[in-house]
Amino acid sequence: MAILDLQRSTNPTSDEQRAAALADPGFGRYYTDHMVLANYTEGSGWENPRIVPTTNFSLHPAASVLHYGQEIFEGLKAYRHDDDSIWLFRPERNAMRFVGSALRLQMAPLPEEIFLDSIMELVDAERAWVPENTGEQSLYIRPFQIADEPYLGVREAHKYLYAVLATPAGAYYPDPVKLWITPNYTRAAKGGTGTAKCGGNYAASLAAAAEAQDHGCGQVLYTDGAEHKWLEECGTMNFMMITRDDELLTPALGTILEGVTRDSILHLAAEHGLTPIQRPISIDELRDGLDSGYVTEAFACGTAAVITPIVGFNSPERGEETVGDGQPGARTQTLRQHLLDIQYGRAADRHGWLRRVG
Ligand SMILES: *Cc1c(COP(=O)(O)O)cnc(C)c1O
Repeated sequence: MAILDLQRSTNPTSDEQRAAALADPGFGRYYTDHMVLANYTEGSGWENPRIVPTTNFSLHPAASVLHYGQEIFEGLKAYRHDDDSIWLFRPERNAMRFVGSALRLQMAPLPEEIFLDSIMELVDAERAWVPENTGEQSLYIRPFQIADEPYLGVREAHKYLYAVLATPAGAYYPDPVKLWITPNYTRAAKGGTGTAKCGGNYAASLAAAAEAQDHGCGQVLYTDGAEHKWLEECGTMNFMMITRDDELLTPALGTILEGVTRDSILHLAAEHGLTPIQRPISIDELRDGLDSGYVTEAFACGTAAVITPIVGFNSPERGEETVGDGQPGARTQTLRQHLLDIQYGRAADRHGWLRRVG
């Protein structure tokens, strides 16, 4: 049953234009004809969740998001199965995390039902935009929330705007990457915003990403803010490594972002003969493990790329270090394929992770 009002676009993309877009969607190049909006006003709460034609926003220049950065977002995907049914993967985890991010930024939390209903209904209305299930294509969904109250004082806003965009994402094969262990930057500190998915964390990561590029690395591996000793995660993905003892090791929660992909892989580990372990991992443990061969594989994980194999590290203290033989690990690739097979309906969904749209 539809809950959101739907205002149809009077100028939707033609079937030919959409077919051309879906033939080579890239990422973030095309947007569906419709988006979700909902408004929060202190005293009235969340109102008027609706689906409207995708168009520009109009914001007062004093909107507090533009000055003090109250902004949070999520990222998830809709997958088309062989029988043309369309599915989301654990969207309730994103709904919960969106609430957590809002609370950390002192923003009004969006009720989880509105988050879930709005995404289900947007994807249902835009079914034609969900690409064929060849080559890991999907419809990427971007919910976000901003403080749109015009007010220049520093305090939490009394008005918020929630919106959801959807953009077809093309075939994506992650290139293996080397990670730069930055001595200069941190992503998060105890008590900071590391556990929230907020735009500011990403703004702060760009300088470190540029530093990584300068050192021949595709991504950053951050260590903790206090000692630069404990491994945390990459800028947009969680970090994992596999040991000779069949352990799947990943840094414990605390200051890292709790990824849905991370949690899913920890749940799948046992089926792959791996013991999932979440605990503090020091940079020395990683380095000694690379030298001794104790660490056999490493990868980063997140919704966008699922799993990106890590084939090496670079840092000022130790220079270049290689993981195993410098090729993507076999178990890394098997785990990746398993998760994709669940998402695309080719493997049993034993954990009840998929939610059917429509
Ligand atoms: C989004 C994100 C992840 C991955 O989360 P998923 O839910 O798996 O997509 C990991 N780290 C950071 C910093 C993130 O922003």
